[in-house]
Amino acid sequence: MNLLENKTIAVVGGGPGGLTLARLLQMQGADVKVFERDAHKDARAKGATLDLHHESGLRALREAGLMDAFRANYRPGADRMRITDKHANIKFEDTFADSDKGERERPEIDRGPLQNILLDSLKPGTVVWDSHIVGLN
Ligand SMILES: Cc1cc2nc3c(=O)[nH]c(=O)nc-3n(C[C@H](O)[C@H](O)[C@H](O)COP(=O)(O)OP(=O)(O)OC[C@H]3O[C@@H](n4cnc5c(N)ncnc54)[C@H](O)[C@@H]3O)c2cc1C
Repeated sequence: MNLLENKTIAVVGGGPGGLTLARLLQMQGADVKVFERDAHKDARAKGATLDLHHESGLRALREAGLMDAFRANYRPGADRMRITDKHANIKFEDTFADSDKGERERPEIDRGPLQNILLDSLKPGTVVWDSHIVGLN
């Protein structure tokens, strides 16, 4: 028996965590609402890019069935790093050469596209904007 079927669940906060949770719960048949204090999805600046790790952020997106949307929106190569001295001599380089790809990659995605992917994956009306939860009875 699916314990989540026909359950009504409130998620407080529509950040990447809350939206991903809502998606995963809806995939299990739960009736979910996300209460978010922002007035609407573009109410504030989104902030810097996120690097996603295999065991956490990427795993969540995989389980949410959103990897195709992720691949269409991430920043290929943005997780590579090169440190040089003042003469441009390379002191450290982390390029994830083909032979070394896989678990060490931490692909980056901007927060705006990630938010869109997650919002688009939810049933219409799932997020209740302008809802600052101040307590529970
Ligand atoms: C500078 C910086 C760089 C980072 N870089 C990375 C990175 O590269 N990779 C990575 O994985 N993580 C990174 N993080 C961490 C990442 O931002 C957080 O892990 C992630 O945003 C957490 O998601 P969340 O949904 O749990 O919380 P949040 O993103 O904080 O979202 C919480 C949401 O809940 C809403 N809310 C809060 N209280 C209430 C309330 N009472 N009622 C209604 N709504 C409410 C807020 O408005 C917000 O929208 C970084 C963080 C910072 C600050």
